[in-house]
Amino acid sequence: MVSDIPAPPGVDITRPSVARVYDYMLGGKDNFAVDRQAAEAALRITPDGPEAARANRAFLGRVVHHLVAEAGIRQFLDIGSGLPTQGNVHQIAQRVAADAHVVYVDSDPMVLAHGRALLADNRTTAVANADVRQPRSILDHPDVHGLIDFDQPVGLLLLGILHHLADDEKPGDIAASLYAGLAPGSYVAISHFHDPGEAHPEESRSAREVERIFNQTMGTGRWRTHDEILAYFAGLELVEPGIVPMAEWRPEPGTAPGPRNSIHHTLIGGLARKP
Ligand code: SAM
Repeated sequence: MVSDIPAPPGVDITRPSVARVYDYMLGGKDNFAVDRQAAEAALRITPDGPEAARANRAFLGRVVHHLVAEAGIRQFLDIGSGLPTQGNVHQIAQRVAADAHVVYVDSDPMVLAHGRALLADNRTTAVANADVRQPRSILDHPDVHGLIDFDQPVGLLLLGILHHLADDEKPGDIAASLYAGLAPGSYVAISHFHDPGEAHPEESRSAREVERIFNQTMGTGRWRTHDEILAYFAGLELVEPGIVPMAEWRPEPGTAPGPRNSIHHTLIGGLARKP
């Protein structure tokens, strides 16, 4: 029997939340019975879901390290940041450049409560409550402006969030509105649930089944094709190796490529530069 942490004020524990289900997948403790039930329903279809979540976090780590160490980026806007976990953006960035600024943005009240507790004494990192569906509210947010200078290049992270927007919410337009607020030389990283289609019919069937379960339990989740995901990078220059499964994006030198198991294609993504 797992004993739950107390729910912060404003947190609804009668319905699963994306942030808490993801936390469960990553082996975290910031989740409740309703989240674990939703996660377990998906895991019955794709038991190696936690590995996909870890691959996504590892992608985040490599992207942020690359941007700080190789591209000279010193400020990050991490939208749909999720609950604090191991290897948060500010920890990775500030290990390389102690002066790096990071703002986390999320709409989940639990993320806000835990993020603020973690960052109470940190002057270079903040967490803001905003909804990506209102991109202007993010670009104009006082907590964002307090740390991000939009005249300088920014590392914008949209990891695991655009797939929580329905087609009629126009994720491509939302992403483009965010890019419009960034200085040339900024970078955008995206990771996204992927339906590999006929190239991998078994994985494609699982994707559709998990999509159905996500929508039943959490009311969100859209597995998109490579071309649909590519469209989110419109107007940007993709950095090598382009849009690939998480494990294939610039793996650490000397690491084994890992097994091409059922979740290899579950999340794909890439990094691009604003010219
Ligand atoms: N970016 C982290 C990562 O890739 O490891 C966390 C991804 S988690 C799967 C998705 C996050 O997006 C959750 O924390 C959720 O609360 C947040 N989210 C979902 N819809 C959102 C919205 N409309 N506006 C802001 N955040 C949102």
